[in-house]
Amino acid sequence: MGNYHSVTLDKNRCIGCTDCIKRCPTEAIRVRHSKAEITDDLCIDCGMCIRVCKSQAKRALTDSLDKINKFKYKVAIPAPTLYTQFKKLRDPNIVLTALKKIGFDEVFEVAKAAEVVTAYSQKLLEEGKINRPVISSACPAIVKLIQMRFPSLIDNVMPIISPKEAIARYARQYLIDQGLESKDIGIFFITPCAAKVTNSRQPQTIKTSDVDGVISMKDIYLELIPVINKLQPEDIEILQMSSANGIGWAASGGEGLASKVYNLVAVDGIENVITILERVENNKLDVDFIECLACVNGCLGGPLTVENSFVSTNRMGKIKKYVKQQGKTRDLNIINPKIRLKWDYGLEVTHIRKLDDNMMVALTKMEQIDDLHKTLPRIDCGSCGAPTCKAFAEDVVRGDAIIEDCIFMLREKVRSMAEEMMALSGMLPPSIDQNRRES
Ligand code: SF4
Ligand code: SF4
Repeated sequence: MGNYHSVTLDKNRCIGCTDCIKRCPTEAIRVRHSKAEITDDLCIDCGMCIRVCKSQAKRALTDSLDKINKFKYKVAIPAPTLYTQFKKLRDPNIVLTALKKIGFDEVFEVAKAAEVVTAYSQKLLEEGKINRPVISSACPAIVKLIQMRFPSLIDNVMPIISPKEAIARYARQYLIDQGLESKDIGIFFITPCAAKVTNSRQPQTIKTSDVDGVISMKDIYLELIPVINKLQPEDIEILQMSSANGIGWAASGGEGLASKVYNLVAVDGIENVITILERVENNKLDVDFIECLACVNGCLGGPLTVENSFVSTNRMGKIKKYVKQQGKTRDLNIINPKIRLKWDYGLEVTHIRKLDDNMMVALTKMEQIDDLHKTLPRIDCGSCGAPTCKAFAEDVVRGDAIIEDCIFMLREKVRSMAEEMMALSGMLPPSIDQNRRES
């Protein structure tokens, strides 16, 4: 499959506006010939470019609802963010019932597995075998960022599968125990983001994913809205198994709150995460646990959500309160203690593009980049198609751009050429006397 990415670019829609290049946290995007290009091995599928693209040229490849019909027994595993997408909705059972009404035979909540993952994380933290501060592995975009930009922190990442994978495993095993054949069971994750699509289709730390398909929250929202609007109180099935703590994982700080670790930092928004990880890398942060989520307000701000993440955060508080005070849960336990929650493999460092295989040549190129950077205007205007003047200098040294792609350097060149031409225009052949010509 190569290096799979859910985030893709539709060149026909791209107008080359350069809005995305500055927002990409890994500087993976360039605009060349009026079209954006994503450098495959730099993209972490954070979805930031999906959010900022006004032309909707960036999108996440997800599955359509029709795909569930390939399976005899269809299971939805919604991320808890889904509950916050609907105005005035407090009871998760309404959303879970609506999922069954649009074609799923069963629904199991990711939030339930979040509780189990929390308990297992606590156990590993107490054992003290992971480098401190331990960094949550819940956000796949952050895990990829660490592999690429903070390789020294790889052994700090919590080696546990995500709640999404955990609930898929529990669901499959439970249904097999009920007499179903694995091939007939289709497990579909309802996702708030592209990173989790990529992580389901190309998992890094487990042999295979038990998730058979991933449906965007935006797409499922459109299917659910008319059903939810028509639901009568007597139609609502009690399908919820999760507690407020598990549901709260969707918000920034939710995992930390559930884990009851006292000395922790919860950080959301990729720029903030980078700042915190830089401090950890420099041994300037004395905490036990760090919850890092790429999106502002955590998964409530995922790029495939419908609602504003600040509004969702407000709703999340109300939903948790409802669940604590009046929530109804079903009497079913699918949590099987025999299911493995640890990773099958460790994380590997992602080797991003080297300047050269030969160390000496690479060092020379680094010097060339620094020297060229000093001659550039250093205002990071982006009109060259690179996010910063430094990135542009690197592109030139790599041979991916030419110096004249910088409008300021081009203007300088045109000016000096014009001056040269002016000087040349006044010159005469040596056979003609200058004074005679002027008289
Ligand atoms: S998904 Fe994120 S890392 Fe990938 S190109 Fe878009 S902004 Fe950059
Ligand atoms: S914060 Fe949540 S929604 Fe955003 S990229 Fe990470 S896992 Fe996905």
